[in-house]
Amino acid sequence: MGSLDGAEVCELVGLYLLDKLSPITGKLNTGLYRDDGLCAINTCSPRRLDKLRKDITAMFKDEGLSITIEINLLATDFLDVTLDLFNNKYYPYRKPNNNQLYINAKSNHPDPIIKELPTMIARRLSDLSCSQDEFNKAKGPYEAALKESGLANNLEYKSSTKVKKHNRNVIWFNPPFNKAVSTNIGKIFLRMVKKHFTKQHHYYKILNIHTIKLSYSCMPNMERIIKQSNAKILDDTPHTNQGGCNCSKPEDCLLDGQCLTSCIVYNAEVSTAEKEYIYHGSTKNTWKERYGGHKTSFTHRQYEHATTLSKLIWKLKDNNTPYTIKWSIAALARPYKCGTRHCDLCLTEKTIIARSKHSGLINSRSEIVSKCRHRKKFLLNEVT
Ligand SMILES: [Zn+2]
Ligand SMILES: [Zn+2]
Repeated sequence: MGSLDGAEVCELVGLYLLDKLSPITGKLNTGLYRDDGLCAINTCSPRRLDKLRKDITAMFKDEGLSITIEINLLATDFLDVTLDLFNNKYYPYRKPNNNQLYINAKSNHPDPIIKELPTMIARRLSDLSCSQDEFNKAKGPYEAALKESGLANNLEYKSSTKVKKHNRNVIWFNPPFNKAVSTNIGKIFLRMVKKHFTKQHHYYKILNIHTIKLSYSCMPNMERIIKQSNAKILDDTPHTNQGGCNCSKPEDCLLDGQCLTSCIVYNAEVSTAEKEYIYHGSTKNTWKERYGGHKTSFTHRQYEHATTLSKLIWKLKDNNTPYTIKWSIAALARPYKCGTRHCDLCLTEKTIIARSKHSGLINSRSEIVSKCRHRKKFLLNEVT
C-alpha cells in the first residue's frame, strides 16, 4: 500500500485470488476491484451460503489473508454504486459522511476544467443510475456541493454515453496553467506548429496539428511544492556520475579520461576524407559498457543494424573508406527515477538530436519520438 506500483501489485494479487475463488463460486459471477469484491449467488439456502462463506474464508486463510464477508444481501454498495437485486435497480452510492468537495470556480484551473466539471459529474451520476428517477433522487448533495464551489449547479440526466475512440498517435503538450498569464499559450503554440512544420518540413509527418494536441496541466499546490523541495534536499543520489577512467593506458582513453562516466549523452564523430558524420547516443550505464556494445556491432556483421552508427561503419567498411571516430560527452543527465513521469536522460538526448544542425547527423528522425526504455525495467513483468 502506498508504494508506486501498489495498484499493479494489487491487480496481480486480485487475479490470483479470483482464480483461486473460481472453483468455489464459479467463474462468471465474482468480481474484484482492488480490495473490494462482489459475488452473486443464485440460491436462498442458508446452509449453502454459510458453507460458501466458510470455504472462502478458509481459502483466504490459506493465503495468509483475512476477509470480511457479508452474506444474505439482496442489495449492496459496491464502490460508488448501490446494486439492488430485490427491486432490480442500481443507483449512485455515497458513504454517509463523505461530503463532496469540488474545486472552486475561482481557483487557478483552466477554464475548460471548471466549465466541464458539472457535465462530467452529471455523466458519471447518469451512468450509475438505472433511470432518471434514481438520478434525480441522488443528485441533491452533488448540486449542493457544486453550488458551494460557485459552479453551475443544475445536473441533467443523460442516457448512456458512447465512448469516443481516441487516436493513439498523439503527442500531448501539457504546459502548466496559470490564470495570471494573459497570453493564450495554446493558440500561439498551435499556430507555431503550423508555421514551422510546413508540409515540406522533414518533421511534418510526426509534428503537425493533428499529431500534437495541447492540454493544460495544473500548477502544483502548496503541499506539493513543499514536498518537492523537501525531497530535493533529502535526495543524496549524485546528479552526475563522473567516474574517471580505468583504461590500462589512461593516455589512450577514448573519452579523455572520463570513460567510466555513467548516465550521459555522448557524441560519436565519424570523419572520412570527404564527409563528417555525427551520432548522438545515450546510456545510463558507464560509457565504457556502452562502448563495448558499439564495438561488437562494428566487428560482427550480425549486429550491423543495431544502431544507425553501426550501419554507417559497415557501409564505410564495405566501400573500403578509411575513417576515424572521435567520442565525446555531449551532456550529463539524471538517471530515471521510478514513478516519475519524465526521463531526463532520454529528454536530453532527444533535445540534442532535435537541435542538431549538423549536416551529417545520422540519428534517425523517429528517435526523437521513441519511448523511454529506462522506465521499462521498473515494470512488474520485468521483475525477476
Ligand atoms: Zn578510459
Ligand atoms: Zn529514459
